[in-house]
Amino acid sequence: MTNEHADSESDEGIDLWTLIQSYCLGVDRELVARLVAWPPDFAQIHVHEVIGGMLARQATLTKDIAHAPSLWTGHSAPILLRAMADAYINISWLLLDPVERCSKFILFGLGQAKLELEHRRTQIGTREPTAPEAAILEAAEQWIDRQRINWLLDVDLGKWSSLTVRQMAEEAGCIDFYNYVYMPFSACAHSMWHHVARYDLVECNNPLHRHHRRPISEARAPDINYWTLAAKYWSKTLGTFDKAFMLNIAEPSSYESLVSAVTNSVDHDPY
Ligand SMILES: [Zn+2]
Repeated sequence: MTNEHADSESDEGIDLWTLIQSYCLGVDRELVARLVAWPPDFAQIHVHEVIGGMLARQATLTKDIAHAPSLWTGHSAPILLRAMADAYINISWLLLDPVERCSKFILFGLGQAKLELEHRRTQIGTREPTAPEAAILEAAEQWIDRQRINWLLDVDLGKWSSLTVRQMAEEAGCIDFYNYVYMPFSACAHSMWHHVARYDLVECNNPLHRHHRRPISEARAPDINYWTLAAKYWSKTLGTFDKAFMLNIAEPSSYESLVSAVTNSVDHDPY
């Protein structure tokens, strides 16, 4: 009796929102398990802040993608997936020499924040800033000051690693990920021609018009593969993190649970 009842329930399948909720809870559990197994080393606290922050960002991005089926299209999902790919390559490269590289990562970001502040000041020029402008300037200055090294900060206009993303991916042993994930998704993130021509134009069927393409803003049906890709990149990030810190976490994988729940619609490419 009990078995029959259980069978009829599983035949109905799990509804999408239940699956999304359970996936997101799984991601939170996975993140917490890492933070428990990897306590801060206060001698090198910047490593914990940078790597921990990046890990938390990946968790947030994969949950945000999971929560928004309307974004599971070729128009929008690659923008977020490209950001996850970027973070994955960064983390992989940072972890090869975390003490030195995380400090460069912070300095570059602070340099950028300082530059942004200078641009705002230049825009205001010699006139008296309005109250909201003054508040923004002060908040930005205080934030940089709180990082303790404001007065020593050089504005660095280059790349923080002095390498291209491609070179970082090569060094970190994830050039395939760069070629097959980062690059194709960049076309969408940067609205390049080979994306726009495919997604935002449609060929006219009037034979007199020499097959020109018409602009079209058209919703696409959500494709669950975009969610499973986000789940995969989160899982890859955890794998790289666990390996670097030699962690052996028994927590069930949110990616594997998701794949087994939607197994028929999942892609099987290795990246
Ligand atoms: Zn036409």
